[in-house]
Amino acid sequence: MAFQCPPDCGWCCTHLTREVPPEEAASTRAFRAALRDLGVYHCGDAVTTGLSLSNAEAERFRGVAAQRGVRAAMHPRTFLLETRRRLAVVLDWHFPHAVCPFYESYQCTVYHDRPLVCRAFPVMVATPLSLAPQCPKVPAPRSALRVEVRARNAIERAHAAIDEGAMRALDRGRFALGLAPAEASRRARRYRVVALEAFLGEQPA
Ligand code: SF4
Ligand code: SF4
Repeated sequence: MAFQCPPDCGWCCTHLTREVPPEEAASTRAFRAALRDLGVYHCGDAVTTGLSLSNAEAERFRGVAAQRGVRAAMHPRTFLLETRRRLAVVLDWHFPHAVCPFYESYQCTVYHDRPLVCRAFPVMVATPLSLAPQCPKVPAPRSALRVEVRARNAIERAHAAIDEGAMRALDRGRFALGLAPAEASRRARRYRVVALEAFLGEQPA
């Protein structure tokens, strides 16, 4: 039997922010410092804000939000800074909201078009299976989570493609390396934003 959400649950749609345990915060800081030395920067609140979007998803939801008059802020979640042309090359985005702007009247209003990360929940890691304990359907057997596991595997493949694309991009320009986070954010706001796929001249996935 497939995994079914209880009617009107919406826990994952209304808890997009989270507390980060101190040991996780320390390892994330170290990981991000190492990436900054390579020229890869993260939005300051991306650790505590969970809903991440690919460039293609962000573009799609920007369009839906504009069409419906929904206020849906999005921040570049991970980005590179090309200094010659003053470009912020965005690898992915996130919603800096505690509650998803597309959650209304206890329903997802973009359900058939919802992002991959929503399709994967509560599967956080597919192999070995790791599930978000806050989801009321957990524990659920792997056999009930085929759609979610498939979505999580697709996210893993997309992340690998982004990592590989970012490395190719870093070979194709003059990028700022090792900036302090505040300076990187300041430049990202001033530079022209371009999606990684557009920078590489590729179609978004
Ligand atoms: S995935 Fe889990 S937390 Fe999210 S709406 Fe469904 S049952 Fe609720
Ligand atoms: S897009 Fe839909 S499923 Fe995803 S968090 Fe928003 S309301 Fe929930």
